[in-house]
This record gives sequence, C-alpha cells and structure tokens, in this order.
Amino acid sequence: METEHGAVETPMFMPVGTQGSVKAVEHRELLELGVQIILGNAYHLYLRPGMEVIREAGGLHRFVGWERPILTDSGGYQVFSLTDLRRIEDKGVTFRSHLDGSTHVFSPESVVTIQRELGADIMMVLDECTPYPCELDYAARSNALTLRWAERCKEAFEKDGPRYAHGQALFGIVQGSVYREVRERSAEALVKIGFDGYAVGGLAVGEPVETMYEISEVCDAVLPREKPRYLMGVGTPANLLESVERGMDLFDCVLPTRNGRNANVFTRSGGLNLRNAIYKADFAPVDPECSCYTCSNFTRAYLRHLFQAKEILALQLATIHNLAFYLWLMREMRKVILDGRFRAWKLEMLAKLSGGESMVQ
Ligand SMILES: [Zn+2]
Repeated sequence: METEHGAVETPMFMPVGTQGSVKAVEHRELLELGVQIILGNAYHLYLRPGMEVIREAGGLHRFVGWERPILTDSGGYQVFSLTDLRRIEDKGVTFRSHLDGSTHVFSPESVVTIQRELGADIMMVLDECTPYPCELDYAARSNALTLRWAERCKEAFEKDGPRYAHGQALFGIVQGSVYREVRERSAEALVKIGFDGYAVGGLAVGEPVETMYEISEVCDAVLPREKPRYLMGVGTPANLLESVERGMDLFDCVLPTRNGRNANVFTRSGGLNLRNAIYKADFAPVDPECSCYTCSNFTRAYLRHLFQAKEILALQLATIHNLAFYLWLMREMRKVILDGRFRAWKLEMLAKLSGGESMVQ
C-alpha cells in the first residue's frame, strides 16, 4: 500500500497511538522495530490538544514528529463507546466530551475536515459501530445511516483537498453487525460509492470468534481484491492468522501495548504473565527465539522484578517485545504467503501459540 509518507507492506499490524503516542515507546524504538504505520485518533486529538494547535504545528506528522504513514480513526467508535450522553441523527452525532463534559457535534463533513487538518495519510469515514448483541432491525437501520454518512464523507472528501504537501486516502467502513445480508449490502454499497480502501468495523466487540471469521469471509467475497482491507480492532495472534487467511490486510489493536503494560507478553509458544512467581529466578529471555532489544539484553526475572517494583522501564521493555512479536508475526505471514505455504505454516503456528498461560484478551 503506497502513501506519500512511504509504502506499507501488507499484511501489516498498526500500533495504536491514540493520543499521538504509542504508549510507553519512543518513536525511535518504533522505527527500530520496523513499524511502518501508526494509528491516531481524531476524537481524542480533536478534544486535546485541539485542532488549532495541530493546524499551527503544520499537521499531525509534524506535531508528533513521525514521518511515516499515519491512519486516523474518524472518532465515531470513541463517541459511541466513551461518551454516555450522545444523540444520533442524520446530520451527525452530538456528544459530550469525556474530558470536560462540553457538547460537540461530529458530522460526516466535520470528521473529514478534522482529518484533513490532522493530515492523516489514511482517513476513515464516520460510521456507527453497532454494539453486540444487536437486533437485525437495528443493524439494518444503523447500516443505512452509516451508508448515507459514507456517501457524504466521500462528497466532502472530494470537495475539500489536502491541507499539507501530501495526498490523503479515504477508507469506507463496512458495518452490519453479525448479519451476513446486511454486511453484504453494506460492502456492495460502499464499493459503489468507491473508496481507496475498505475497513470492516463492528467486529471483535464480543461476538463469538467464529462469527467474526464468517463475517470477514462475507466481506472478502464482496470487496475488491486490489484495494486494502482493514479489520478494525483485531486482535490476538490467532485472530490475525485466521483473518489474513480470509483476505484481511491491515489490523490495529491495543493488545500488544496494553497487555505489555500489564506484564502479559506474547511468545512463539504462547503467552506469559511475568508477574508469576515462577519467573522470579528465570534468567531466560522473554522469548528465546525473539531478537528484539528486550529479549537480546534482559531476562524474565529482571522484567518480573521491574514489574514488582513498579518501574516505568517494565512497561517500556514489555511493550517493545510485544510489538516486536506482532511485527514478526506479520513479517512471517508476508513471507509464507509469497512462498505459497501459508496454510501449513498457519496450522503449525496456531498449535504453538495455544501453549503458555491464559492472556487478557
Ligand atoms: Zn522480544
């Protein structure tokens, strides 16, 4: 996937940098890890520091000092999940800031303007992310609204060009909860409107994992092969393996970063909880097969000590390793896809990953 801030190899995992920062890691570490694209969030950045500061800084890339691609979420998801006081109408969604209770309106047009001003390489349309469970009737009505909003986002996107010296792309978002026919309708209508890429939203919200895979297959069948597909908010290493097999290209999730900060680390043979007493004098690296900075220099015992002592370095080292693991997983997938041995390798990986301790999902 080409952007003016560089190419993104797919399939790819995008670390979450909600506030313009991937929690607990410096940009130079992200670069060292081979991170090619990060996420920012329009809702959070719009509320704080606010668009005036971003505009004055010359856009998000300059403000945060990141020269590679950035994708911003429109903020719809946060409006629906973070704020309790909200009103959804055709014109847009009225909500109260989770910071100070002030009232704001996000419309399809305003989220395009906000993301133009942020200067994201990839912008997302405004959508309603339906909760789970969700009645068929609600899913269908909500999806109709999401499609009307998608059309208005596209119009606003075409009317109003980029603010900075680089181009921007706009992705549509397939909704429709767990209902095949609503998902199909949603994907078909979005393709008709025409976007640079397509996201599948409203999954990984509590539905059974088999349902998530089934809906990914439904979307895969409708969405154009030559455009990137982005499965939003997913997921565990096993989810990534299964979803790539089902034609998904891009992923974002707080799991590697959030779990890392909670002493939960991913390894090639399953997850570990570094707070466990069994690691007290375990002088092996977190993952003996990993070549990241953490695994090359430190032991499980040291990381456990840092977590016990509530040292900031614990969060940094665990996050670095977890991101290294996710990026390694994606790199391996790209390799075995090209070698034509994805399926056999996937089965082998799934068996290995099912070892270890239970992880926070
Ligand atoms: Zn490592």
